[in-house]
Amino acid sequence: MTSPATAVRSAFDAVLTNIRQAEADCHRAPGAVQLVAVTKTYDAGHILPVLEAGQRVFGENRVQEAKQKWPELRQRFSGLELHLIGPLQSNKAGEAVALFDVIETVDRDKIAQSLAVEMHRQQRRPKLLVQVNTGLEPQKAGLPPAEVPDFLARMGATHGLQAAGLMCIPPATEDPLPHFRLLRQLAQQAGLGILSMGMSGDYAAAISEGATHVRVGSAIFGSRPPLA
Ligand SMILES: *Cc1c(COP(=O)(O)O)cnc(C)c1O
Repeated sequence: MTSPATAVRSAFDAVLTNIRQAEADCHRAPGAVQLVAVTKTYDAGHILPVLEAGQRVFGENRVQEAKQKWPELRQRFSGLELHLIGPLQSNKAGEAVALFDVIETVDRDKIAQSLAVEMHRQQRRPKLLVQVNTGLEPQKAGLPPAEVPDFLARMGATHGLQAAGLMCIPPATEDPLPHFRLLRQLAQQAGLGILSMGMSGDYAAAISEGATHVRVGSAIFGSRPPLA
């Protein structure tokens, strides 16, 4: 029997190895791709082995859950970078600005407006990514691709905010490659450097299409119970 900590550690090592291999396969520099270890639903017992292995970049998709877990871990480990990867409501913008270093899910003016107010008030500047609904799925957050250029322009002109990059979650049942390619084109057109794309099932493909950040949860921590 291996302990959960041992299992998480070896799965983490395997994911890092795969990322380095995917970088090499497409002639990208070693370390060009940042792993965002997605810890939603997992407690400190699962997260500690990965922190102890040196991982410092993590993703959570709920503000409340992150607030319960991360302040304590931040006191114990320096250099942490926490990413919000789930939908943000404007009434949580203050907490999100206080807690997160990167907010990956900016997708409407109301959120941009609330973030701008809070960033000014708190004098904190998390990096902002714009989420794009590349598959135009009605149930999914994110801007339609065609609206991205105007939204980026309004972020600057109306809200005084500069996006650092784009993020997408391709439709679960489709080949993700065309979605990754579309996100890369949109980022290139806008001159944005960060591309957050690729999860447990498709991060190698995302790296081949230019991902700078891959968000990997279950391949490291195990499959999650369905969210209540
Ligand atoms: C949960 C989640 C992930 C990680 O998914 P896995 O398939 O477990 O790797 C990545 N991105 C977002 C936005 C998520 O909500």
